[in-house]
Amino acid sequence: MSSSSGAPATTAAGAVVHSVPSYLQADHLGPWGNYLQQVDRVTPYLGNLARWVETLKRPKRILIVDVPIELDNGTIAHYEGYRVQHNLSRGPGKGGVRFHQDVTLSEVMALSAWMSVKNAAVNVPYGGAKGGIRVDPKKLSMGELERLTRRYTSEIGLLIGPSKDIPAPDVNTNGQIMAWMMDTYSMNTGATATGVVTGKPVDLGGSLGRVEATGRGVYTVGVEAAKLTGLALSGARVAVQGFGNVGGIAAKLFAEAGAKVVAVQDHTGTIFNGNGLDVPALLAHVKTRGGVGGFAGADVMKPEEFWGVDCEILIPAALEGQITKDNAGQIKAKLVIEGANGPTTTEADDILHDKGVLVLPDVIANAGGVTVSYFEWVQDFSSFFWSEDEINARLVRIMQEAFAGIWQVSQEHKVSLRTATFIVACQRILHAREMRGLYP
Ligand code: GLU
Repeated sequence: MSSSSGAPATTAAGAVVHSVPSYLQADHLGPWGNYLQQVDRVTPYLGNLARWVETLKRPKRILIVDVPIELDNGTIAHYEGYRVQHNLSRGPGKGGVRFHQDVTLSEVMALSAWMSVKNAAVNVPYGGAKGGIRVDPKKLSMGELERLTRRYTSEIGLLIGPSKDIPAPDVNTNGQIMAWMMDTYSMNTGATATGVVTGKPVDLGGSLGRVEATGRGVYTVGVEAAKLTGLALSGARVAVQGFGNVGGIAAKLFAEAGAKVVAVQDHTGTIFNGNGLDVPALLAHVKTRGGVGGFAGADVMKPEEFWGVDCEILIPAALEGQITKDNAGQIKAKLVIEGANGPTTTEADDILHDKGVLVLPDVIANAGGVTVSYFEWVQDFSSFFWSEDEINARLVRIMQEAFAGIWQVSQEHKVSLRTATFIVACQRILHAREMRGLYP
């Protein structure tokens, strides 16, 4: 566990300097514990800014809300929802909303903290935030999903706003859900506020290129890393976990560049084709069938065999905590590109590092989504919209520049790309914190 769990220091005046609230102590092996270990690793590189590091270990604001809705059968169901603003030193809160049956407060805390780091890593003017509801949305009708989304939006209305905190899609949320969120916030405030969420449908102030942005960013940093390490993309074998917005688009772009997508795993199955899967056909299959299971152009694999697949590039693009000390040893890839947030535990990170596997960490690799969210927010404010080519060109430029800076820091300090990204990002966050000063 992090150093912040140590005995609290007490000043002469009796103030407790570092007491640790109970919700920060819980679940230290989960995503929040993983994040705290990442912060501990960066602290020695922060120089004088290290005196502010405790700021990163406690979210600024946590809101837990009850979300009651009437189900179609007349019963009243209650769901637990969250919005966590981890840090607002560099700007308004920014980060997605996740609907999933396993969502917990400590998970949302970690995801909000990774947003702070990610937004600072690509230097978009945001703090970090995240939200979620513990619910399996696949079990709800459209009407129930809409009522859930609207009630949740009203409950977190205390915190969100175009210049306060801007939600976006994440796992199991999409443009339709963002449209309901935008409408609910607008109805409650009495004015259409398109800039309160990003990832909206294009006809409602959304941005061209936003749906593909995270996958495009994954691909962009993958290309840069391949160049720097002498890995040829043409013919490279790729394995992807998760085939939604992130994994599906990244797979499509790698295949277009001549790579062979040989294995894909999602919640409906694990499939393999050594000659390379037909990615456009698989995307079409997933659209109608809801997952890769049952795809005709592939063999079925046992789920546990996925991690040991012969490949050069592995893209975990599903949920956190997937690459662990139990499977990291099997990984044969040279390059792991984290499309998901938090897919690799700290122990697994060390195993991969010792094996010479290069890990492109989530906090830079999947930052393409929030980068185009930033473009969407800017376009909404100015009511002037850019072409898809302009969006993609700006996205690629930001990702390439951020990645080059992080690569240089990793070479300079001889640290992993994760620690290098944390060095760049945490310096930006804590420098902003220091310049703003403590109030009062
Ligand atoms: N949910 C995405 C992420 O984890 C996007 C967040 C956003 O666009 O605000 O980065």
